Amino acid sequence: MKVVEIRGFNLSFPLAEPMGNALSLFRKRDALVVQIRTDAGLVGWGESGNQPHAAAAFIRARLAGLILGKSPLEIGRHFQAMCGAVGYDRRGSTMMAISAIDIALHDIVAKMHNISVAALLGGAVRDQVFAYASGPFVRTQPDPYRQYQREVDAYLRRNFKAIKPRGGVDAKADGLMANTLRKQVGPDIGIMVDINQGYTAAAAIRSARFMEEADLLWIEEPVQPEDLPGYLAASRDISTAIAGGEALGSLRGFRDFVTAGAFDILQPDLSICGGYSGFRQIWALAQAYDLPIMPHVFGTVVNFRASLQMAAVLEPRRGGAAHAYPFIEYDMMDNPLLNLCGTPSISGEGTLSVPDVPGTGLDLDAERLEPWITASWTERL
Ligand SMILES: [Mg+2]
Repeated sequence: MKVVEIRGFNLSFPLAEPMGNALSLFRKRDALVVQIRTDAGLVGWGESGNQPHAAAAFIRARLAGLILGKSPLEIGRHFQAMCGAVGYDRRGSTMMAISAIDIALHDIVAKMHNISVAALLGGAVRDQVFAYASGPFVRTQPDPYRQYQREVDAYLRRNFKAIKPRGGVDAKADGLMANTLRKQVGPDIGIMVDINQGYTAAAAIRSARFMEEADLLWIEEPVQPEDLPGYLAASRDISTAIAGGEALGSLRGFRDFVTAGAFDILQPDLSICGGYSGFRQIWALAQAYDLPIMPHVFGTVVNFRASLQMAAVLEPRRGGAAHAYPFIEYDMMDNPLLNLCGTPSISGEGTLSVPDVPGTGLDLDAERLEPWITASWTERL
């Protein structure tokens, strides 16, 4: 069997109102999903986490030639060859491009064996993953957190037992927001706050102090993603667990942070860190330092389904929450690309089922993407 076709779909959808995080407010969101096809008619889907146009260009110019005509089975060899093609900086949009191909190849190989990707990765250790509502999101000034209480009520009605509001706009406002939400949801709902790189270390420490009463499970990305000294300064003075790493694109990026003790929880993103191949390397590092690891996911149903398979195989770690980690992140924006194959329902315990089906179990075709395609391309053997 060999790979005969790689198709790319650049996708975009508008938001009803500007919303986002401490870093930026979005008016629209973009994505790149990739479909790989073999001569046996098997199809696999992958996704690139960010910079969709740059990743698409890199796949077309460099990666497609490494994969077309080759057996999809040689995933490890393809991963090495693709990393070799990057040359200088093995992170960023080039690693995101590699991620899309690696995720799609795993989907194909699992389908070849008629097993789930989790089975291909060594076997699921759970058939339910605890899900958290990733939201609410920052709105325009004044009072960027104004919608949070109403939206959190809606999350609880959907059975979510943990929420991750965006903070990082102002330290005092963070405190008021987090403490108000804690009073609203009671003691048993998990609350985490994502700062999205918004603060200096000093501001992050101040924000954490104002949020102390809210008893957060973690504070995420308090400072700039590459700012190791900032992470260390923040973690020295913040008693809450610090989570991060979604923007670190490789094992070596994580190595420096983990060995320095910058993170309490690792959050690599499959569509950024090199797909399952990259994630597994970082997982081994997490195991060596006994740190909980869980996939960051904020894109389309392709990366979401892939992350659910990855989360199913990670060993459970108790990190202070009522439920053992890993958690799976569920994007609460009105995201049609996440709900392309239906909106998954959250169980009464706040979990999502891991589909035990060939590949990631994604029943997707190009026609379904049609309303959101801004550009598409095909590379053939
Ligand atoms: Mg985040």
